[in-house]
Amino acid sequence: MSSRMSPATLESAVSDHLPWLRDVYRHFHRHPELSMAEHATADRIEQELTALGLESQRIGGTGVVAVISNPATAGAGANGEGPTVLARADTDALPLQEDTGLEYASQTPGVMHACGHDAHAAALLGATRVLSENRDAWSGTYIAVFQPGEETAAGARAMVDDGLLERVPRPDVALSQHVMPTAAGTIGTVAGPVLSAGDSLRITIRGRGAHGSMPHTSVDPVVLASSIVLRLQTIVSREVEPGTFAVLTVGSITAGAKANIIPDSAELLLNIRTYDPAVRDRVMASIERIVRAECTAADAPLAPVFEYYDQYPLTSNDPTVTDTVTEAFVEHFGPRAVYEASRVTASEDFSRIPEAFGVPYTYWTVGSVDPARYQDALARGAVGQEIPANHSPHFAPEEEPTLLTATRAQVVAALAYLGAERRGE
Ligand code: ZN
Ligand code: ZN
Repeated sequence: MSSRMSPATLESAVSDHLPWLRDVYRHFHRHPELSMAEHATADRIEQELTALGLESQRIGGTGVVAVISNPATAGAGANGEGPTVLARADTDALPLQEDTGLEYASQTPGVMHACGHDAHAAALLGATRVLSENRDAWSGTYIAVFQPGEETAAGARAMVDDGLLERVPRPDVALSQHVMPTAAGTIGTVAGPVLSAGDSLRITIRGRGAHGSMPHTSVDPVVLASSIVLRLQTIVSREVEPGTFAVLTVGSITAGAKANIIPDSAELLLNIRTYDPAVRDRVMASIERIVRAECTAADAPLAPVFEYYDQYPLTSNDPTVTDTVTEAFVEHFGPRAVYEASRVTASEDFSRIPEAFGVPYTYWTVGSVDPARYQDALARGAVGQEIPANHSPHFAPEEEPTLLTATRAQVVAALAYLGAERRGE
């Protein structure tokens, strides 16, 4: 499969825009906004799209979408005939005080682009610009989706709920990417599960309070919660098949305020990560079974309450789409720049979009660390200690080549579909 745009042409089409890309990226980095409040970010994205002569629409509050239907290139069929590709970038920042010392560091105290979504948004704008300006290189429809609220798992759902499916053409394939603390200039792809499903769960245990000196009149939720925490450890160790991935963490346990009062309730906050929907269902069912049984064993007067929140779907890359995109990456970037990514236990809400359309997708990673620095840390086994990862106040992607790589990756992946056929040549 070869694109109608040569690698050299594509490379310069992107590189020519580096000053603009850097400017847009630095603007986003300086002005980070929290999830679902990306108002100024959405405004800037719309301004850039308008400057490119593209129409945009707001979907899901601070979500922005632009659609380029590319008609009637010579001999290529009429009216945007061809495949439809949806490319998505997230746009939100984190509640974190930046500590990078960058000249373009956040100007908003306590808010920081610490996950690289500023780079994702800039790269998608860059890809949209390159595709818009090189319409003879492709035919079909390109949908650029700037999604808010990834960090709270609210944004993709908000866009779907606000009519995304009715307001843009149905894509054949969906694409997304994430910057990671690996060597800049490299790209990781992998078929199958790449990011775990993530679920948070609030459990309220309801016992019976009493004076601390009269425990026999209580159903002590502190003792009950303690026994639940220990018993929950047997789910991954005794119920999930060895070698199958599952994480169950009790991240918070709260009860009582005073030494001599037995409180009447306790609250547990759990986080669960899985790669397999069947394992996820099993873990959830086991949690509820154990908690209910422990409450019964303690003679709790009321049933426990389960509230699921911050739920992220599994991200599982379609093998065919991943093969097609990987092949295009290898052709463009060279085999040494493209590696097989390992699964990450982090989670993402991107897959809600292709899943709502019922279309396949792939999600790849883009390196962001100076390659020499990365190799040096890798050789000493010190990557985890020395290279700030996403969500660190020190997270600072190398602008170059990260921005160019991320932009090219979006263009190359889209052209694997939109530019594939050499019609009319
Ligand atoms: Zn993040
Ligand atoms: Zn992120």
